[in-house]
Amino acid sequence: MSSYYSSLKRGVKWFRKVMMDILFGTVIINSWVLYNHGKPVQMPKKNFMEAIIEALTQVPILTETANECAAMPKTNHTFENKGIKRRNCAGCYNKLRATLNSKDAQRKTKKIKSYCGECNKGYCAKCFYENHL
Ligand SMILES: [Zn+2]
Ligand SMILES: [Zn+2]
Repeated sequence: MSSYYSSLKRGVKWFRKVMMDILFGTVIINSWVLYNHGKPVQMPKKNFMEAIIEALTQVPILTETANECAAMPKTNHTFENKGIKRRNCAGCYNKLRATLNSKDAQRKTKKIKSYCGECNKGYCAKCFYENHL
């Protein structure tokens, strides 16, 4: 049984190597040319290659912009702590709501002045990061 697995592993390695050779070889250029043939909008070669690699590996390629986003909360969500009125923390409320009815959950939820500028929902600092990272 173990020998079966190790030969399978070797097979996968070999397959990967061949795939890489194909990906970065002439085949990809040819298919890119074919893909763009007759299309009004030409796809850049880089995008085309990334799409193929993504499809093969099922792993999304992180472009420079995606990397930037991953380091920050999604899009323009901002933690504001100068709210005019206190509101319920949406995160704490959701957590309490799992065990309480909405009235009790609302009563027990932290009242905070901080909120997310984008969601326009109240969030305590802890819940803001929990809900946005
Ligand atoms: Zn909270
Ligand atoms: Zn938000």
